[in-house]
Amino acid sequence: MSGTDAEGRIRTLGIIGAGQMGGGIAHVAALAGYDVLLNDVSPDRIEKGIATISGNMARPVSSGKLSDGDRQKGLSRIKPANSLEGLAACDLVIEAATEDETVKRKIFHQVCPLLNPEALLATNTSSISITRLASQTDRPERFIGIHFMNPVPVMKLVELVRGIATEDKTFEAAKAFVTKLDKAVTVSEDFPAFIVNRVLIPMINEAIYTLYEGVGTVEAIDTAMRLGANHPMGPLQLADFIGLDTCLAIMQVLHDGLSDSKYRPCPLLVKYVEAGWLGRKAGRGFYDYRGEHPVPTR
Ligand code: NAD
Repeated sequence: MSGTDAEGRIRTLGIIGAGQMGGGIAHVAALAGYDVLLNDVSPDRIEKGIATISGNMARPVSSGKLSDGDRQKGLSRIKPANSLEGLAACDLVIEAATEDETVKRKIFHQVCPLLNPEALLATNTSSISITRLASQTDRPERFIGIHFMNPVPVMKLVELVRGIATEDKTFEAAKAFVTKLDKAVTVSEDFPAFIVNRVLIPMINEAIYTLYEGVGTVEAIDTAMRLGANHPMGPLQLADFIGLDTCLAIMQVLHDGLSDSKYRPCPLLVKYVEAGWLGRKAGRGFYDYRGEHPVPTR
């Protein structure tokens, strides 16, 4: 399984990072007919990622939105790539590893020499400068931000973010890819946290300040925003869902990148991350998920 199809379109997709987002991207791409190679730091993580995808794909089968045959076909298109060498034949590689610039930079240094020179490279970063990440690669013209939303199978939007050197051809190929996944594209300029997270994450940070200052309890804040602002999820529940490490990393990028004290991460958010209470993926965040029902931790 290698190479683009007869029209030069993307056929084989590599994904680096098999967590919430990498798994979600693999899920939708495989159901859309792409061959997917999934990489992470260890075979265990990849296996866990594929098991999660398998569980997530069973949901639309039970609700009648996907046939079991299509689920099986989709799953069979996802293969583990236990090393970055395994991504050599990909037409597009999307980096969806932890939101840490040092980690991402190291990945690009390692993977670039292994790829076909024509292959496209993308990042799913929530906040980090695309131009800066592109400068760490051997192909800034063929580098782009493809920012999916969580959970990928459910959320309709993808932000496309060009770096300063991104060629039109790269943008068009990324747009065609995202459209084939049945997602809607919005274009953001390359500024810290782009559009969605520039608005959303400071709101979540403010909700955490509201908790920190004792204005309301976890339940009061979430209920207030669900019923008072008609948000489908309360901001603290949403923070747990995104991952508190990711929320903190995005606030730090906003704070550093825009040098404005209004983006100061709430000390309580820092404390939760230091405790390893990273939200749902860690079993505990503003809620404790280890029992039958989520229980507020404050
Ligand atoms: P996650 O913690 O669920 O997964 C990250 C994965 O990256 C882990 O499995 C980890 O083992 C892996 N990883 C770390 N270093 C690696 C390396 N050197 N090589 C290969 N894999 C490595 O995090 P996530 O929520 O999936 O976030 C991933 C990326 O997507 C981040 O850049 C994040 O900002 C972005 N993002 C997250 C959300 C969200 O709501 N969580 C939404 C959009 C974009």
